[in-house]
Amino acid sequence: MSAGRQIVVVGGGAAGIIAAWRAASLGADVLLLEKGRRLGTKILISGGGKCNVTHAGRLEDIRKAFRPNEAAFLKPSFYKFTNTDFTDLLEADGLRLYTRPDGRIFPIPPADAKDVVAVLEGLVRSAGVTVRFDAAVEGIEAAGGAVTGVRLDGEVIPAGRVVLATGGSSYPATGCTGDGWRWCEALGHTIVRLCAALAPLYLDPSPPESFNGVALRDCVLRARRVHPDGNTGKERMRWRGDMVFTYKGVSGPVALGVSREIAEALPEGSTVEADFLPDESVEALSERLSRWSRENPRKGLAAFVETVAAQSLSSAILASAGVGADVKGAYLTARERNRLAATLKGWSLGRVRAIPLERGEVVAGGVALGEVDPKTMRSRNVRGLWLCGEILDIAGPVGGYNLQAAWSTGYVAGDDAAS
Ligand SMILES: Cc1cc2nc3c(=O)[nH]c(=O)nc-3n(C[C@H](O)[C@H](O)[C@H](O)COP(=O)(O)OP(=O)(O)OC[C@H]3O[C@@H](n4cnc5c(N)ncnc54)[C@H](O)[C@@H]3O)c2cc1C
Repeated sequence: MSAGRQIVVVGGGAAGIIAAWRAASLGADVLLLEKGRRLGTKILISGGGKCNVTHAGRLEDIRKAFRPNEAAFLKPSFYKFTNTDFTDLLEADGLRLYTRPDGRIFPIPPADAKDVVAVLEGLVRSAGVTVRFDAAVEGIEAAGGAVTGVRLDGEVIPAGRVVLATGGSSYPATGCTGDGWRWCEALGHTIVRLCAALAPLYLDPSPPESFNGVALRDCVLRARRVHPDGNTGKERMRWRGDMVFTYKGVSGPVALGVSREIAEALPEGSTVEADFLPDESVEALSERLSRWSRENPRKGLAAFVETVAAQSLSSAILASAGVGADVKGAYLTARERNRLAATLKGWSLGRVRAIPLERGEVVAGGVALGEVDPKTMRSRNVRGLWLCGEILDIAGPVGGYNLQAAWSTGYVAGDDAAS
């Protein structure tokens, strides 16, 4: 190896794979160190094993799915290695992809995440990257403000250029245990407070057992503040999509979508409520309910609720609205009607008890973006150090955004480290 061109990439996940491939493609000698026994363990479980590889559409729109400071940071890398650059890479290797109506891009079944990883492995191998598995790096060596090596198995591998791509700390069984953050902190980087993002919500009280697995389609989940006096206050966040009850609370895209704001607000509490009919106002719904009651005088109100929500939820919804399960259309009072309409527009699911960081698709927080050059992914604090992927303080929504951030920042890091 020509020592000057040697690059050590730590972490064989989405960002590390692309960084290693790009650097080796430019002629650098690249050593990729991965803690686990295979590459892309988290990619394998992404999108429920189907792998939502990226998001379709204009880069500006994709960028704006992130918070403004994250979007600004990602701009140079998104334009340097775009969503179509990545899909072209997969398709050039014969993997066929399709775009869902919501813009999410997946391999065409039966192809799945395994095939995505297989393509990436092929790229890494053919570029000549040396890959070491079971290589749990223990730390980064630095002297005089510059990286000098990587500590592994009690020894130091000398290296003047190190790309850190150790990811976050959710799903620790994938090898992601936040190691990179500890090293970066020791090297003087600021680690922005870590908290759960894209994680399920645990509720108090837990939902009744009979709700477990029950789904709500195209609802809006609203999170509200809870004041110290216990009263519910201003809306904190809302998300539209599907939701599913679990034993401990709620999961699915809407729960994941509101989780970061709730977690960031802790210790201040939050409640969540479901709007079953996001496109209908409470007044229009009350009017529809009134018409339904006239047309169905002998039917119980559960029949109406079941047109909107799963059958297994109807008696709980009626109870929340204070409407007897046996009340027939003909006997529904105006007050009951308005209460039921209001409940269907904001059914309180309870207070958020916990948001398990380790169960999140990503972790919010990480290395402060101001300390990394977005055009190169170089650390501004330590020479010879590049940072990419989830180790950075970036957390996009569900939809292929997070992997795109890993592909793009990984590409830029590998490109610059090899230059
Ligand atoms: C269940 C789940 C589903 C997801 N689905 C999607 C999806 O469909 N679409 C999407 O865009 N995003 C999805 N994500 C998020 C996405 O997987 C991550 O954003 C992305 O993998 C981050 O890439 P990364 O390279 O930064 O980290 P990772 O892919 O997590 O890779 C980090 C690698 O570093 C290695 N490592 C850690 N410490 C060390 C060490 N000390 N020494 C050596 N190696 C080390 C780890 O073993 C790991 O292989 C999902 C995440 C989860 C958990």
